[in-house]
Amino acid sequence: ARKFFVGGNFKMNGTKESIKSIVKNLNESQLDSNVEVVIAPPSLYLQLAADSIKQPNVAVSAQNVYDKPNGAFTGEISVSQLKDSNIHWTILGHSERRTLLGETDEVVASKTKFAIDGGVSVVWCCGESLEERESGNTVAVVEKQLAALAAKVSGADWEKIVIAYEPIWAIGTGKVATVQQAQDVHAAIRGWLKANVSDKVAEETRILYGGSVNGKNCKELAKEQDIDGFLVGGASLKPEFVDIINSKL
Ligand code: 13P
Repeated sequence: ARKFFVGGNFKMNGTKESIKSIVKNLNESQLDSNVEVVIAPPSLYLQLAADSIKQPNVAVSAQNVYDKPNGAFTGEISVSQLKDSNIHWTILGHSERRTLLGETDEVVASKTKFAIDGGVSVVWCCGESLEERESGNTVAVVEKQLAALAAKVSGADWEKIVIAYEPIWAIGTGKVATVQQAQDVHAAIRGWLKANVSDKVAEETRILYGGSVNGKNCKELAKEQDIDGFLVGGASLKPEFVDIINSKL
């Protein structure tokens, strides 16, 4: 069985004080012990979060990492720097980085491979725009993103990847995908993995849903057979993040 997984993507939000208070709330909460959790604060606060989290099932994740070992790459951080700070996860390919920072499917795939090779696990994001959905291209877009990933990673690499399906039109809009819309794309992703990677990878890879998940809509989504957790933006900054972690209880 796939272990339920909930990620909190803080994006470019927070202060030392607010990060401390989010971590304090997590430390003091009763969290479902069958759920794997990561929180992803801005890179400046990774160390603070890693040093203050006391929950055994909560790890800290970066929001991005570069695909070169070190050197003249102003503004970037490296996989080995994450490891040196005891950070073993990163998000990659978030739609905000794809659209605002110009990351292509190939760049995201290359970063994913580089992170895994360096011992950092990846929450790899995919998803379509509203225009792509309305023109009936949702599955084609996601499959193209997956194909670029599968061209770079293989075998045991997949054990270090959690897929997050985040329809762009649902991110930060309050317009959550319907349970059926999410389940359908998750099933398509799993089917693609089965056809193009392996039965094992299809069976074992966690596929998260992201986009306007909150403490209220999480329970219904969590019941679907191909929804293995959530990647949460706005609500991960609030106490209701605990309700999302506990959505299977
Ligand atoms: P919201 O939960 O704020 O819609 O953001 C989702 C997201 O982009 C998580 O990575």
